[in-house]
Amino acid sequence: MSKLALVLIDIQNDFLEGGSLAVAGSNSILQPVNSLIKLVKAKGGLIVASKDWHPQNHISFASNHADTQVFETKEIEYEGVKGTQVMWPDHCLQNSFGSEISKQIDEKDIDFIVHKGMNKRVDSYSAFADNNYSEITNLAKILYQHHVDTVLIVGLAADYCVKWTCLDAIKFGFKTIFVKDCTKPVDPQQFESTLSELKAKGVSIQHCSDIFCWPALN
Ligand SMILES: [Zn+2]
Repeated sequence: MSKLALVLIDIQNDFLEGGSLAVAGSNSILQPVNSLIKLVKAKGGLIVASKDWHPQNHISFASNHADTQVFETKEIEYEGVKGTQVMWPDHCLQNSFGSEISKQIDEKDIDFIVHKGMNKRVDSYSAFADNNYSEITNLAKILYQHHVDTVLIVGLAADYCVKWTCLDAIKFGFKTIFVKDCTKPVDPQQFESTLSELKAKGVSIQHCSDIFCWPALN
């Protein structure tokens, strides 16, 4: 029987409606996410939450670049590796209200919290590692130590942090499920291409209701 973990990606006030980097329709994921939390806990699975956790001088903030506007991109280089960085509004500042996990998620249900995005020079979309693989978070260690083989990945946003966490989950060897109705994209026009890319890499795309019907869970 598989050992499950539910990974809650960045369900923080700044990404929810009313936040500084609000994802449209994001509050609608809270109820299905809560039902998945209850299901996974009832089946003895693990609940891990990531938090985007930035210093004020973070490279992803447009406010730190005189020449670039919010949502534009900029070529950056870190440790000799070139990359393209989206310029975001300031969000998820360490210890701010915006970086708190939504009060609609019961923190008592969360077994582990993984912080990401603390290095001011490189962004971190995936909860497994930064965008340059310069540093790996504790997420893989937590999952390996608890003998998890299957991860359900939900949260915000579908086309950035959820997507890159799914792709890394495959690289780290997990059976990976993207739960379509427990996430929302920054750019709805990117949603279908994100799904195709994930499927091509071996990620299973399912609805919350599909998971309740898994034979192994009943
Ligand atoms: Zn961020």
